[in-house]
Amino acid sequence: MLPNVIILLGGPASGKGTQAKVLAKRIGYTYFGTGDLMRAEVEKGTDLGKTMADLMNRGKLVPDKLTIPIVINRLEELRSTNIVLDGFPRNLDQAEILQDVFPNENFLVLNIEVSGDELLKRMSSRRICDKCGNIITVKNDEKVCEKCGGNLIQRDDDKPEVLTKRIQSYEEQTKPIIAYYREKGLVRDIDGQPPIEEVTKEIFNYTDF
Ligand code: AMP
Repeated sequence: MLPNVIILLGGPASGKGTQAKVLAKRIGYTYFGTGDLMRAEVEKGTDLGKTMADLMNRGKLVPDKLTIPIVINRLEELRSTNIVLDGFPRNLDQAEILQDVFPNENFLVLNIEVSGDELLKRMSSRRICDKCGNIITVKNDEKVCEKCGGNLIQRDDDKPEVLTKRIQSYEEQTKPIIAYYREKGLVRDIDGQPPIEEVTKEIFNYTDF
């Protein structure tokens, strides 16, 4: 039976966000990224957004007492939909909550594997366009988006001092989820080291879509 909840796991800059969006679009599932949800809250400039920005900019996960209420609302709205999840769950408690919200769904976990060195290299050259949101990897610190002429900026949480902290949060809090889902036989490991298009191909080769 085809899974109706697909979870993308992987370190920061592993490409999980990009692959999640491509996959969702191609198979007609709803994409839900908790990083985007949190950045939207930050943009609104609310007290909650300010607290989140402070944590995100220090490479820390947002604590569950702030994360769960906003995420759960959206998950409940999506209950009868097929979804691709990017950035959730990020710790074991979140994985249990997801199980509670979707007790009868079929899960598939795609674990995008990239070495720590490669993650660091990618994060330090990742830029986002302030106009169209295009995410690119710069080779020579380019400043202008080729697609729309907008400014290429570095996300605060991609700045060098934050990078190692984000990898540490991933190793300590998120990686244990892989074992949790592996025990249930739900994990497919994907080599995330090659270029984006090749990883996408591998995902489609591996899955039954
Ligand atoms: P992402 O865009 O998925 O890399 O998320 C960016 C940042 O948002 C992360 O480094 C965390 O600080 C925060 N974040 C996103 N999703 C979660 C989550 N499920 N739990 C806690 N923090 C999260």
